[in-house]
Amino acid sequence: MAYGIMFHHFHDAIHPQGQGAISADDLKNLLGALNSADVLDAPVWLEKAMAGTLEPHHRCLTFDDALLCQYDIALPVLKQFGKKAFWFIYSSIFQGNLEPLELYRYFRTVAFATIDDFYLDFFAMVTTHYPAYKPHITSDVAVNYLADFSFYTRNDRIFRHLRDEILTTEAYAQLMTEMMAAHHFDTKRAVSQLWMNPDHLVALHQDGHIIGLHSNSHPTRLGRLPPEQQLQEYVANTTHLERLLGVSPCTMAHPCNSYNPDTLRILQSLGVKIGFRSNRAEVEQRTLLEMPREDHINLLSAQDYQPQ
Ligand SMILES: [Zn+2]
Repeated sequence: MAYGIMFHHFHDAIHPQGQGAISADDLKNLLGALNSADVLDAPVWLEKAMAGTLEPHHRCLTFDDALLCQYDIALPVLKQFGKKAFWFIYSSIFQGNLEPLELYRYFRTVAFATIDDFYLDFFAMVTTHYPAYKPHITSDVAVNYLADFSFYTRNDRIFRHLRDEILTTEAYAQLMTEMMAAHHFDTKRAVSQLWMNPDHLVALHQDGHIIGLHSNSHPTRLGRLPPEQQLQEYVANTTHLERLLGVSPCTMAHPCNSYNPDTLRILQSLGVKIGFRSNRAEVEQRTLLEMPREDHINLLSAQDYQPQ
Protein backbone atom coordinates (compact mmCIF):
# COMPACT_ATOMS: atom_id res chain seq x y z
CA MET A 1 0.00 0.00 0.00
CA ALA A 2 1.16 3.53 -0.77
CA TYR A 3 2.32 5.45 2.29
CA GLY A 4 3.82 8.74 3.41
CA ILE A 5 7.26 8.97 4.98
CA MET A 6 7.10 10.87 8.26
CA PHE A 7 9.91 13.17 9.37
CA HIS A 8 10.42 15.14 12.58
CA HIS A 9 13.85 16.31 13.79
CA PHE A 10 17.01 17.16 11.86
CA HIS A 11 20.42 18.18 13.15
CA ASP A 12 23.39 20.17 11.87
CA ALA A 13 25.97 22.58 13.33
CA ILE A 14 23.16 24.85 14.60
CA HIS A 15 20.32 22.47 15.37
CA PRO A 16 21.39 20.02 18.09
CA GLN A 17 21.47 16.27 17.68
CA GLY A 18 18.58 15.12 19.88
CA GLN A 19 17.15 11.62 20.02
CA GLY A 20 15.83 10.54 16.64
CA ALA A 21 17.31 13.50 14.75
CA ILE A 22 18.89 12.88 11.35
CA SER A 23 21.30 14.89 9.19
CA ALA A 24 20.95 16.28 5.68
CA ASP A 25 23.14 13.40 4.49
CA ASP A 26 20.82 10.84 6.10
CA LEU A 27 17.92 12.40 4.21
CA LYS A 28 19.92 12.42 0.96
CA ASN A 29 20.77 8.74 1.46
CA LEU A 30 17.16 7.87 2.11
CA LEU A 31 15.86 9.77 -0.91
CA GLY A 32 18.72 8.47 -3.04
CA ALA A 33 17.79 4.88 -2.19
CA LEU A 34 14.21 5.39 -3.33
CA ASN A 35 13.11 5.27 -6.93
CA SER A 36 12.60 8.98 -7.62
CA ALA A 37 9.49 8.38 -9.74
CA ASP A 38 7.84 6.64 -6.75
CA VAL A 39 8.19 9.74 -4.57
CA LEU A 40 5.23 11.89 -5.55
CA ASP A 41 5.06 15.63 -5.05
CA ALA A 42 2.45 16.47 -2.42
CA PRO A 43 -0.04 17.99 -4.90
CA VAL A 44 0.23 14.87 -7.10
CA TRP A 45 -0.30 12.59 -4.10
CA LEU A 46 -3.38 14.59 -3.09
CA GLU A 47 -4.83 14.41 -6.59
CA LYS A 48 -4.17 10.66 -6.93
CA ALA A 49 -5.45 9.91 -3.43
CA MET A 50 -8.75 11.62 -4.22
CA ALA A 51 -8.99 9.93 -7.60
CA GLY A 52 -8.18 6.54 -6.05
CA THR A 53 -5.19 6.08 -8.35
CA LEU A 54 -2.35 5.75 -5.83
CA GLU A 55 -0.28 2.62 -6.44
CA PRO A 56 1.39 0.49 -3.74
CA HIS A 57 4.89 1.72 -4.65
CA HIS A 58 3.96 5.41 -4.32
CA ARG A 59 5.44 7.45 -1.47
CA CYS A 60 5.15 11.05 -0.31
CA LEU A 61 7.22 13.10 2.14
CA THR A 62 5.66 14.64 5.26
CA PHE A 63 7.08 16.96 7.92
CA ASP A 64 5.22 17.42 11.21
CA ASP A 65 5.19 20.10 13.90
CA ALA A 66 6.48 23.26 12.12
CA LEU A 67 10.06 22.65 13.22
CA LEU A 68 12.65 25.16 12.03
CA CYS A 69 15.27 22.40 11.64
CA GLN A 70 13.10 20.92 8.88
CA TYR A 71 13.07 24.21 7.00
CA ASP A 72 16.79 24.83 7.49
CA ILE A 73 18.08 21.31 6.85
CA ALA A 74 15.50 19.21 4.99
CA LEU A 75 14.14 21.85 2.60
CA PRO A 76 17.46 22.39 0.76
CA VAL A 77 17.68 18.60 0.23
CA LEU A 78 14.12 18.55 -1.11
CA LYS A 79 15.09 21.34 -3.50
CA GLN A 80 18.08 19.32 -4.65
CA PHE A 81 15.84 16.32 -5.35
CA GLY A 82 13.10 18.53 -6.82
CA LYS A 83 10.43 17.28 -4.41
CA LYS A 84 7.42 19.03 -2.84
CA ALA A 85 6.26 17.77 0.55
CA PHE A 86 3.39 18.00 3.04
CA TRP A 87 4.05 20.14 6.13
CA PHE A 88 1.63 19.58 9.01
CA ILE A 89 1.45 22.62 11.23
CA TYR A 90 -0.04 23.16 14.68
CA SER A 91 -0.98 26.77 15.32
CA SER A 92 -0.66 27.60 19.03
CA ILE A 93 3.09 28.20 18.77
CA PHE A 94 2.39 30.98 16.24
CA GLN A 95 0.29 32.69 18.90
CA GLY A 96 3.20 32.74 21.33
CA ASN A 97 2.27 29.60 23.27
CA LEU A 98 4.89 27.03 24.10
CA GLU A 99 4.53 23.36 23.46
CA PRO A 100 6.14 21.81 26.54
CA LEU A 101 7.00 18.39 25.06
CA GLU A 102 9.06 19.97 22.30
CA LEU A 103 10.63 22.55 24.60
CA TYR A 104 11.63 19.90 27.18
CA ARG A 105 13.12 17.76 24.45
CA TYR A 106 15.22 20.72 23.31
CA PHE A 107 16.32 21.41 26.88
CA ARG A 108 17.37 17.78 27.42
CA THR A 109 19.36 17.96 24.20
CA VAL A 110 21.23 21.23 24.62
CA ALA A 111 21.75 21.41 28.39
CA PHE A 112 23.25 17.94 28.92
CA ALA A 113 26.20 16.16 27.35
CA THR A 114 24.22 12.93 27.08
CA ILE A 115 20.61 11.96 27.62
CA ASP A 116 21.71 9.80 30.57
CA ASP A 117 23.16 12.89 32.26
CA PHE A 118 19.72 14.42 32.03
CA TYR A 119 18.05 11.29 33.39
CA LEU A 120 20.38 11.09 36.39
CA ASP A 121 19.68 14.74 37.22
CA PHE A 122 15.97 14.19 36.81
CA PHE A 123 15.90 11.06 38.99
CA ALA A 124 17.83 12.97 41.68
CA MET A 125 15.26 15.79 41.49
CA VAL A 126 12.40 13.33 41.89
CA THR A 127 14.09 11.67 44.87
CA THR A 128 14.67 15.04 46.53
CA HIS A 129 11.18 16.44 45.97
CA TYR A 130 9.21 13.22 46.32
CA PRO A 131 11.16 10.79 48.55
CA ALA A 132 8.18 8.42 48.47
CA TYR A 133 8.73 7.89 44.73
CA LYS A 134 12.29 6.67 45.13
CA PRO A 135 11.35 2.97 44.67
CA HIS A 136 9.97 3.84 41.21
CA ILE A 137 13.52 4.48 40.00
CA THR A 138 14.48 0.83 40.37
CA SER A 139 11.17 -1.05 40.37
CA ASP A 140 10.52 -3.92 37.94
CA VAL A 141 7.46 -2.09 36.63
CA ALA A 142 9.59 0.96 35.80
CA VAL A 143 12.47 -0.88 34.12
CA ASN A 144 10.01 -2.95 32.06
CA TYR A 145 7.78 0.00 31.13
CA LEU A 146 6.85 0.16 27.40
CA ALA A 147 8.34 -3.30 26.91
CA ASP A 148 6.90 -3.43 23.38
CA PHE A 149 9.32 -0.74 22.25
CA SER A 150 12.67 -2.47 22.05
CA PHE A 151 14.65 0.68 21.26
CA TYR A 152 14.12 2.28 24.69
CA THR A 153 17.02 2.09 27.15
CA ARG A 154 16.55 1.28 30.84
CA ASN A 155 16.71 4.98 31.74
CA ASP A 156 14.30 5.88 28.90
CA ARG A 157 11.79 3.48 30.49
CA ILE A 158 12.26 4.69 34.07
CA PHE A 159 11.93 8.31 32.94
CA ARG A 160 8.76 7.70 30.89
CA HIS A 161 7.24 5.66 33.69
CA LEU A 162 7.83 8.48 36.18
CA ARG A 163 6.62 11.14 33.77
CA ASP A 164 3.55 9.37 32.42
CA GLU A 165 2.40 7.16 35.31
CA ILE A 166 3.72 8.50 38.62
CA LEU A 167 4.05 12.28 38.52
CA THR A 168 1.05 14.52 37.84
CA THR A 169 1.33 16.78 34.79
CA GLU A 170 1.77 19.74 37.12
CA ALA A 171 4.44 18.05 39.22
CA TYR A 172 6.38 17.08 36.11
CA ALA A 173 6.13 20.62 34.70
CA GLN A 174 7.29 22.01 38.05
CA LEU A 175 10.36 19.77 38.09
CA MET A 176 11.26 20.68 34.52
CA THR A 177 10.82 24.40 35.20
CA GLU A 178 13.13 24.11 38.18
CA MET A 179 15.74 22.19 36.18
CA MET A 180 15.62 24.72 33.33
CA ALA A 181 16.11 27.58 35.80
CA ALA A 182 19.04 25.77 37.44
CA HIS A 183 20.66 25.44 33.99
CA HIS A 184 19.95 29.09 33.05
CA PHE A 185 18.08 27.75 30.04
CA ASP A 186 17.02 30.61 27.73
CA THR A 187 13.44 29.72 26.78
CA LYS A 188 12.98 32.67 24.39
CA ARG A 189 16.06 31.76 22.45
CA ALA A 190 15.00 28.11 22.37
CA VAL A 191 11.64 29.06 20.88
CA SER A 192 13.27 31.03 18.08
CA GLN A 193 15.52 28.03 17.32
CA LEU A 194 12.79 25.43 17.55
CA TRP A 195 9.88 26.58 15.45
CA MET A 196 9.30 28.20 12.06
CA ASN A 197 7.75 31.64 11.87
CA PRO A 198 4.84 32.71 9.60
CA ASP A 199 7.22 33.77 6.82
CA HIS A 200 8.55 30.23 6.56
CA LEU A 201 5.03 28.86 6.10
CA VAL A 202 4.23 31.43 3.41
CA ALA A 203 7.48 30.65 1.59
CA LEU A 204 6.74 26.90 1.62
CA HIS A 205 3.20 27.49 0.36
CA GLN A 206 4.39 29.78 -2.42
CA ASP A 207 7.03 27.26 -3.40
CA GLY A 208 4.36 24.63 -4.16
CA HIS A 209 4.51 22.61 -0.94
CA ILE A 210 1.25 21.75 0.82
CA ILE A 211 0.61 23.12 4.31
CA GLY A 212 -1.84 20.99 6.25
CA LEU A 213 -3.57 20.84 9.63
CA HIS A 214 -2.13 19.26 12.78
CA SER A 215 -4.56 20.70 15.44
CA ASN A 216 -4.12 23.95 17.34
CA SER A 217 -2.30 22.96 20.54
CA HIS A 218 -1.10 19.45 19.62
CA PRO A 219 -2.83 17.52 22.43
CA THR A 220 -1.22 14.12 22.93
CA ARG A 221 -4.64 12.45 23.26
CA LEU A 222 -6.88 14.48 20.95
CA GLY A 223 -9.07 11.44 20.31
CA ARG A 224 -10.08 11.39 23.98
CA LEU A 225 -11.26 15.02 24.02
CA PRO A 226 -15.00 15.83 23.80
CA PRO A 227 -16.14 16.62 20.24
CA GLU A 228 -16.61 20.35 20.98
CA GLN A 229 -13.00 20.64 22.06
CA GLN A 230 -11.77 18.70 19.03
CA LEU A 231 -13.78 21.03 16.81
CA GLN A 232 -12.19 24.04 18.51
CA GLU A 233 -8.74 22.56 17.94
CA TYR A 234 -9.25 22.15 14.21
CA VAL A 235 -11.24 25.36 13.65
CA ALA A 236 -8.49 27.43 15.30
CA ASN A 237 -5.86 25.60 13.23
CA THR A 238 -7.85 26.11 10.00
CA THR A 239 -8.50 29.79 10.70
CA HIS A 240 -4.84 30.47 11.42
CA LEU A 241 -3.61 28.83 8.21
CA GLU A 242 -6.41 30.31 6.09
CA ARG A 243 -5.60 33.84 7.24
CA LEU A 244 -1.92 33.35 6.65
CA LEU A 245 -2.00 31.55 3.30
CA GLY A 246 -5.29 32.68 1.78
CA VAL A 247 -6.43 29.12 1.11
CA SER A 248 -8.34 26.64 3.19
CA PRO A 249 -6.18 23.64 4.20
CA CYS A 250 -7.54 20.36 2.85
CA THR A 251 -4.91 17.95 4.21
CA MET A 252 -3.94 16.98 7.75
CA ALA A 253 -2.02 14.59 10.01
CA HIS A 254 -3.35 13.34 13.35
CA PRO A 255 -1.14 14.63 16.21
CA CYS A 256 0.30 11.63 18.10
CA ASN A 257 -1.90 9.45 15.88
CA SER A 258 -4.83 10.23 18.17
CA TYR A 259 -8.36 10.52 16.80
CA ASN A 260 -11.80 8.94 16.99
CA PRO A 261 -14.90 8.85 14.74
CA ASP A 262 -15.86 12.36 15.95
CA THR A 263 -12.50 13.67 14.72
CA LEU A 264 -13.05 12.26 11.25
CA ARG A 265 -16.56 13.73 11.09
CA ILE A 266 -15.23 17.14 12.19
CA LEU A 267 -12.42 17.10 9.64
CA GLN A 268 -14.86 16.19 6.90
CA SER A 269 -17.13 19.08 7.90
CA LEU A 270 -14.15 21.44 7.62
CA GLY A 271 -13.51 20.31 4.05
CA VAL A 272 -10.41 18.22 4.75
CA LYS A 273 -9.85 15.76 1.93
CA ILE A 274 -7.00 13.55 3.13
CA GLY A 275 -5.40 12.81 6.50
CA PHE A 276 -2.43 10.80 7.69
CA ARG A 277 -1.87 8.45 10.63
CA SER A 278 1.63 7.98 12.12
CA ASN A 279 2.07 4.32 11.33
CA ARG A 280 1.23 1.61 8.84
CA ALA A 281 -0.86 -0.50 11.21
CA GLU A 282 -3.94 -2.21 9.79
CA VAL A 283 -7.10 -0.09 9.96
CA GLU A 284 -10.58 -1.49 9.60
CA GLN A 285 -12.39 0.33 6.77
CA ARG A 286 -9.61 2.85 6.25
CA THR A 287 -10.88 6.24 5.08
CA LEU A 288 -8.98 8.90 3.11
CA LEU A 289 -8.50 10.65 6.47
CA GLU A 290 -6.44 7.70 7.73
CA MET A 291 -3.69 7.20 5.18
CA PRO A 292 -0.65 5.27 6.45
CA ARG A 293 2.79 6.68 7.15
CA GLU A 294 6.12 5.15 8.10
CA ASP A 295 8.58 6.83 10.45
CA HIS A 296 11.82 7.57 8.61
CA ILE A 297 13.73 5.88 11.46
CA ASN A 298 12.26 2.52 10.45
CA LEU A 299 13.23 3.09 6.82
CA LEU A 300 16.77 4.18 7.61
CA SER A 301 17.34 1.00 9.59
CA ALA A 302 15.74 -1.25 6.96
CA GLN A 303 18.01 -3.08 4.54
CA ASP A 304 16.14 -1.73 1.50
CA TYR A 305 17.15 1.80 2.27
CA GLN A 306 20.83 1.34 3.03
CA PRO A 307 22.88 3.45 0.63
CA GLN A 308 24.83 1.44 -1.91
ZN1 LIG B 1 3.07 16.22 15.75
